[in-house]
Amino acid sequence: STALDPRDPLGFDDLLSDEDLAVRDTVRAWCADRVLPHIADWYEAGQLPTVRELARELGSIGALGMHLHGYGCAGATAVQYGLACVELEAADSGLRSLVSVQGSLAMYAIHRWGSEEQKQQWLPGMAAGEIIGCFGLTEPDHGSDPASMRTNAKRDGSDWVLNGRKMWITNGSVAGVAVVWAQTEDGIRGFVVPTDTPGFSAPEIKHKGSLRASVTSELVLDNVRLPADAVFPEVRGLKGPLSCLNQARYGIVWGALGAARSCLETAREYSITREQFGRPLAGFQLTQAKLADMSLELNKGLLLAWHLGNRMDAGTLRPEQVSYGKLNNVREAIEIARTSRTILGANGISFEYPIMRHANNLESVLTYEGTVEMHQLVIGKALTGQDAFR
Ligand code: FAD
Repeated sequence: STALDPRDPLGFDDLLSDEDLAVRDTVRAWCADRVLPHIADWYEAGQLPTVRELARELGSIGALGMHLHGYGCAGATAVQYGLACVELEAADSGLRSLVSVQGSLAMYAIHRWGSEEQKQQWLPGMAAGEIIGCFGLTEPDHGSDPASMRTNAKRDGSDWVLNGRKMWITNGSVAGVAVVWAQTEDGIRGFVVPTDTPGFSAPEIKHKGSLRASVTSELVLDNVRLPADAVFPEVRGLKGPLSCLNQARYGIVWGALGAARSCLETAREYSITREQFGRPLAGFQLTQAKLADMSLELNKGLLLAWHLGNRMDAGTLRPEQVSYGKLNNVREAIEIARTSRTILGANGISFEYPIMRHANNLESVLTYEGTVEMHQLVIGKALTGQDAFR
């Protein structure tokens, strides 16, 4: 028999259909062509200079709102969407974040909770990447506990008037539309805010040490006046935003493994060519133990992602199950990044190699979409029936 493929030791690809493989190859080729040659420079510069062009290209390959149906969306399976996330994040977590926020947060919110008019107005342009969306839930003083948010929307005649601040909002400064969650006298509700509305501004957050090739912004809402039909008609309370987070977390379950794959592959190849003490690093047992453990966790994570993907496609995926995936796969991905870094020694800290960039990015991925602790509390509650959040 042929040698085991070090890039697919468990035969994961055998689980995938021809269509799945085609989606993966399309996104992988796009990343290789349009992202990988530039990403290290963008990262060092702390910019995504061609973000609008990238968004349109991602739209043209069907990657925006990929798993949604109708309104110009690709209607792919959850597994296919996951495979796309792996490829995007193998390039950079910032690219995957752009796509996650667009498709799983902003577009999903409108698709799931919007009126027919809201869907027709926004979704086709967003699917095409002509309109970038953002999703404003987190505030400067309210992150893990969004129920305590201060941003509010009050009625003035039939209009709504929004005031408040959102923080750490991906795509904020480049968005044409913002989905903003705010307190109303009826509880938390979602608003579709065109970003050219007077009183809306989105200053970019600088000096990030992570996700540097991603736009992150503050949203300032200063008497932003919206018509009556700017609100999501039905949904009230945290159920609205949490339903969207569940979608984005699902993508991260897959995506984080892309960053891990890039790190492990870099370390494996490096260990084979780099010699110390007269032989390749790969020939030392301690290096092999690292490579074996990393490969094990990467491939276990893929099988977990695949399992959750099939449940999502079958309509049986529970939010607590997404917590298992997000917690495990991001935590293992960052561990793989750090261990890979050690194999490269000093070269591991250089941006000439992708590892340090991925490791830094994964710090954000570990925190956003529910921190490790929040997912432990979700799982803890599911296991015990005890709510330990407050
Ligand atoms: P806090 O909630 O203050 O938590 C700080 C620490 O305390 C964490 O370790 C947390 O786990 C722990 N902690 C809190 N409560 C408890 C508890 N009860 N028990 C034990 N430990 C606890 N938000 C958006 O709305 N939209 C976006 O597009 C978006 N993009 C982001 C992009 C980046 C690069 C980053 C870094 C963040 C982004 N976020 C976004 C915000 C992100 O979702 C929040 O940072 C996250 O929810 C955590 O909130 P916090 O930073 O306020 O931390």
